[in-house]
Order: sequence, then structure tokens, then C-alpha cells
Amino acid sequence: MSNLYQRFQQHVSTDKPLLISDQGKTLASYQDLDEKSGQYAHTLKHLGLKPGDRVAAQIEKSPEALYLYCACLRSGLIYLPLNTAYGHQELDHFLSDAGATLLVVEPSKTSEHRHREVKVVSLGEHSSGSLSSLAAASPSDPNIEPRTENDIAVIIYTSGTTGLPKGAMISHGNLISNGETLLKAWGWSAEDVLLHTLPVFHVHGLFVGLHLPLLAGTPILFHSSFSTKTVLAALPSATVFMGVPTYYTRLLNDGIDQQSSANMRLFISGSAPLLATTFSAWEQTTGKIILERYGMSETGMNISNPLTGERRAGTVGLPLPGVECRIVDEKGLAVASDTPGDLWVKGANVFSGYWNNPDKTAESFTEEGFFITGDIASIDPDGYISIVGRSKDLIISGGLNIYPKELELLLDKFEPVSESAVIGLPHPDFGEAVCAVIVLKPNALPDADEIQNYMRQQVANFKVPKAVFFTDQLPRNSMSKVQKNLLRDQHQDTFIAP
Ligand code: AMP
Repeated sequence: MSNLYQRFQQHVSTDKPLLISDQGKTLASYQDLDEKSGQYAHTLKHLGLKPGDRVAAQIEKSPEALYLYCACLRSGLIYLPLNTAYGHQELDHFLSDAGATLLVVEPSKTSEHRHREVKVVSLGEHSSGSLSSLAAASPSDPNIEPRTENDIAVIIYTSGTTGLPKGAMISHGNLISNGETLLKAWGWSAEDVLLHTLPVFHVHGLFVGLHLPLLAGTPILFHSSFSTKTVLAALPSATVFMGVPTYYTRLLNDGIDQQSSANMRLFISGSAPLLATTFSAWEQTTGKIILERYGMSETGMNISNPLTGERRAGTVGLPLPGVECRIVDEKGLAVASDTPGDLWVKGANVFSGYWNNPDKTAESFTEEGFFITGDIASIDPDGYISIVGRSKDLIISGGLNIYPKELELLLDKFEPVSESAVIGLPHPDFGEAVCAVIVLKPNALPDADEIQNYMRQQVANFKVPKAVFFTDQLPRNSMSKVQKNLLRDQHQDTFIAP
């Protein structure tokens, strides 16, 4: 059984609830998923799509979006989930790079895409849109296209926060392996109810958030987006929650307490670093310890704090079973503990390469088949791994390496500081100069000297920020990642005339 959908299909006969709305209404059962995804599969075939063809979808989160995704899986089509925030130019790149046969958009957006060469259909909530109408009038196709574990199920376009996005080819085998590993590692049971508030165009909400309940046959409290109000109301009916760090800070600000989280078995955080201060505030406020894990589009999840055993603040935990991790220096040799190095990973969860991009694929793997993640990590003597930053973020100032994360952790501990981002800016003398962008706590006054004096007491002189900027908010993308490229662009002329 190498078609991922066959694993989901094991639960259809039970007529269990699958999607429950934020009003507590059952939106779909497992039976509905099978029936409706079969209708979409029939429609896609009727539109002329054949196994291996690419279906790009830029649609809002809805039960219909899940039916479409499952229809693609069962038909052997390759699904391309696209962030709803992408504009026309970005879309042009994805469609032509992937050679997509079909583009699925929101009904209200159809006219914007009339000019496209690719066939455009629409799908919206409550079965609106041309594709939904066709599916509603179609019989449910029971066929499940046989797939090998290496056949591609999804292409996710990813660029981190810089560079032209590349299409990561994720196979049915990658998804099955990672899903099954996580179910075991996180102790998923038939009693679990996931509160799902993440977007479904990204690895976190799509692969982790949807696949685990679908593989286990458990219900999903399916919220179209994150809001602290609806999350607080739904927590008593849930046992597991998955969020990006911003969700946790917002819930802390908006009144999460022991009572509202009493029914919860597991709070999981990922996609961006969880501050140690958030980790401890959460424990103090709710009595629960957040489980932080690390993954990426290309690999799914690689490293996780343990379900039983210590969850260590500021770390992403231990390699998941079946995932091999190496942290190496520039010669590819393992670094000593607590020393930053490049993180490499290998396992059945790791993708096979970038679509249409053999050069980038070759660059991204070592001869032994490790994927070079581009993240810098360190490992402590107990085997807990910390993500220290992105290698592209590394600052080289006067020939010396500086890891922004080390400085951000220190800045965040300083009383007036709420959050920080450390960046390198072009400098005539040093090549790059370390600079800090600071969000202050309410009522704290911006004082660059105070920040620099504090850092002088903490670190070697070459790591002390040469400039300090203050802002109300760090720019973040929808997955909570700080967009340092925007900060670098904003301040690039600080030391060099334009
Ligand atoms: P994406 O492919 O969009 O999921 O982005 C993956 C990147 O997010 C990784 O390469 C890391 O840089 C970052 N990331 C994911 N999880 C964590 C985490 N728990 N802590 C720090 N960074 C993380």
C-alpha cells in the first residue's frame, strides 16, 4: 500500500467524524471524505488529467480543499499547495516551473486568471466554484491509482525567507514514513482530537496537521484560521494542538490558563524558534510543557523533544527514530558538543530533490545521501539539538563567524527587550557588521548605548552590535519566521552610501 490515500481509507467504514467546525458542527465524516474525494477524482479524470500531472491549488482552507488534495493523492496526480498570499508574478513562476496542467483558485478570483494558458477552475467553501459543481454532479470514482513509494505526491515550493522558490518533490513514501513515525513518537491514540488552526498550504498544517489524524482515523477541530478566541473556546474539546510560536505568545497574552487547557495532552510548536521565555511562561500559566520539534518542507519532521522524558527549552530535542542527523564543520567532520555546525539529515522522510532543478538537487545532498538543511545547529552532551540559525544568516565580520541566534538569545534575556533579530549589514571595513533590530517591552525607552553596553558584558567585542535599530514589530511571514531579508534591505545603507 504505497498510495498515501489508501492509509487514510482504512478508516472510512467506521463513519467516524473527521472535520468539526469552530461552532461544533460536524462538517465531514471519514465516509464523506472518501465519497467526495472520489467525486473530485472522477472530475479531474474527466478534465483529462493523468497520473503524474501537476494540479496547482491556491485556495482557502475548507473541507473542499481537503477533498481536492485527497482526490489528487488517490488519482496519482501531483498536488501543488500554494500560499494564498502569493501574487501573480510568483504564481507565474510556480505554474511554468512545475508545468502545471490545472490551476484551482477561489471562485472570486477566476476572472484574474482568464489570461492564463493553463486550465483554470474554481473551488470555494460550501461547494461553490466550477470544480465543486462538476464534482457534485459526478459519481464517486472508487479507483486508487497504484503508486510506488518513490512516486511524487506533492511539490512544495520553498525558499526559506530568501531566494527564488524551488519545488521540493515529496513522495508518497516520504509522507507515509514521516506520518507513522510521528504517530508513534507523539503517542497518538484513538481518543485524540486535534485542534487545527494552521494554514494547509504548508508542511506544518498539511503534512503534520492533517496526515496524523487521517492516518489514525481521529477527528479534527477544523478552524479556518487561528484566533485566540476560538482556540480558547475549543481547547476543552481537544487533546492536541499544533502551532507556530506566535500562536503561543498570543494565547498567553489573551488569557490561556490551567482551566482552559486542562483537557490537553500535547501542545506542539514548530516552524520557527520558540523563545525560552515563551516555553517557561506557558508552563507557569497552563501547567503544560510545550513539545518543540524541527522540520522543513524538504524533509517533514526530523527532530523532536520527547513525549516522555525531558523537553528542554531552546532545543528541538532528539532525532526522530529512523532519521540520522549529523552536525559538521566545513570539512564535513562531526563537531564537538555545544559547537555550531551545518545540520545534515538522512532518512525515509527526506525528499528526492527539487523539481526540474538537478543542479540545486546535486548541491543539496552529500555523496552519502545526506540532505544539507542549510540550518546551523549544535548538540549538547545529552544529544539534544538546538537550531542556531540559517547558514545564509551567518554573519562574517572581519573574517570572524558570528551566529545571530547566540546574540538574539542574550538580547532577549535583557530586561527592556521583548524580541530581537540580529543581522549582518554591508560594512566597508569589516565586510559585514553585526546589527540588532529590537522590539522593546511596553514602556521601555529606546537606548542603543544601553543595549551595546549590556552586550559588551556578555560577549567578545567583535560580536557587539555596531548599530541598534528599534521597531514595533519584527516582519514575519505566515509561518512566524522572521523575514531578515526585509530587515537587511531596510537598513542596508547604514554603513555604506547607496
Ligand atoms: P519550511 O520549509 O517553511 O517549513 O521552513 C523550514 C525552516 O524553518 C527550517 O529549515 C528552520 O530554519 C526553521 N524551523 C522549523 N522548525 C524550527 C524550530 N523548531 N526552531 C527553529 N527553526 C525552525
